[in-house]
Amino acid sequence: MTSSGRNPEKKRAIYGVVGFPVKHSLSPGMHNAAFKSLGIKATYLAFEVKPEDLPEFLKYVNSSGIAGLNLTVPHKEIAYKCLRNFSSEAKSTGTVNTITNRGGKLHGDSTDAHGLLASLKEEFNIRTFKNKTILLLGAGGAAFAVAEKLALSGIKTLYVANRTLEKADKLTQKTERATGVKCVALPLDAKAVSAIIADVDILINATSAGLKRGVKSPIPAASLRKGLFVYDMIYNPPLTALLKEAKKAGAKTSNGLGMLLHQGAKSFSIWTGKKAPLNVMRNALKKATHHPCK
Ligand code: NDP
Repeated sequence: MTSSGRNPEKKRAIYGVVGFPVKHSLSPGMHNAAFKSLGIKATYLAFEVKPEDLPEFLKYVNSSGIAGLNLTVPHKEIAYKCLRNFSSEAKSTGTVNTITNRGGKLHGDSTDAHGLLASLKEEFNIRTFKNKTILLLGAGGAAFAVAEKLALSGIKTLYVANRTLEKADKLTQKTERATGVKCVALPLDAKAVSAIIADVDILINATSAGLKRGVKSPIPAASLRKGLFVYDMIYNPPLTALLKEAKKAGAKTSNGLGMLLHQGAKSFSIWTGKKAPLNVMRNALKKATHHPCK
C-alpha cells in the first residue's frame, strides 16, 4: 500500500476517522464522496476508540495497511505522543489530526489551523487578521492545533480562556514564545471574559462544551454584542447555545462545518497527492446536515 491510497493489486484502500465518540462525524460522507468523484478505489470509515486504547489501535493501523486516518476528540494530543514522524505543523502544535501510512511508517500531520483560517475568511469575509484581537475558548487539542497559526496571521493579541487555567497558561506561553505575539491566559469564567470582551474582534469556541445538545454556552450571553464575529468549531449540533445567544445579540456567527471541509480537503490532498474536489465535499456536507431525519 502506498501513501497515495492505491496499491498494485488495486485493492480498495481504507481510510477513516478515529474518535470517542465518533458517530456524530460527517467526515465519512465527505471523504467517500470525494474518492468516488475522482474514481479513487477507497472507503472511509469511522472507528470508535477509547483514548486509553489509541496506542494499541495505532500499532494495528501500522501493520494492517490502513492508508490514512483523521483523529478527532479526544485523540489529537495522544496521537502526537504515539508517533515519531511529523510534518512541521504537527511538530509545532504538538497535535496530530491526519495520519498517513507511508509503507508501514505512520506520519503525523495537522490540518486544523489551515481549516480554521480558510473557514474564518470564507464565512466572515475577512481579508486580513491584521491588528485583530482573538479570544480562543479552550486549550485542548483543537486549540493547541490552531493557536500558533492564528498568532502568526498578523493579529494583535490572542486571549485563551480555559476551564483548567494551567492548560491555557501552557498554550499562551508556548505560543508567545514561538511567535512573539502577545498571548494572555484566562480562566473560563464570566468575570474574566467580561473584563476583556470589549477589545475582542473574533471569538472562537474550541471547547467541546456544546457538543452534547442541551449544554449551556461556555460564556455568558451578556458578553456577546453586535459586530463581534463568533465562530464555534462544533458543527453538530449546527446551532450550539453559544451561537444561538450570539445571533440573538446581533453578532456574526458560523459553526465549524467550513473548518471540517477545509481541514478534510487538506488531509485528502496529503493522502492522495490530488487537489481535493472542494465542491463535491461541500455538497456532501450540506446533504448530510440537511437530511430530513435530523
Ligand atoms: P479536547 O478533548 O482535546 O479538549 C476539550 C476542550 O474543551 C478543553 O479545553 C476542555 O477544558 C474544554 N471543555 C470540555 N468540556 C467543557 C465544559 N463543559 N465547559 C467548558 N470547557 C469544556 O477536544 P478538541 O480540542 O480536540 O476539540 C474541541 C472541540 O472542537 C470539539 O467540540 C471538536 O468537535 C471541535 N473541533 C472541530 C473541528 C472542525 O473541523 N470543525 C476540528 C477540531 C475540533 P479542560 O482543559 O478544562 O478539560
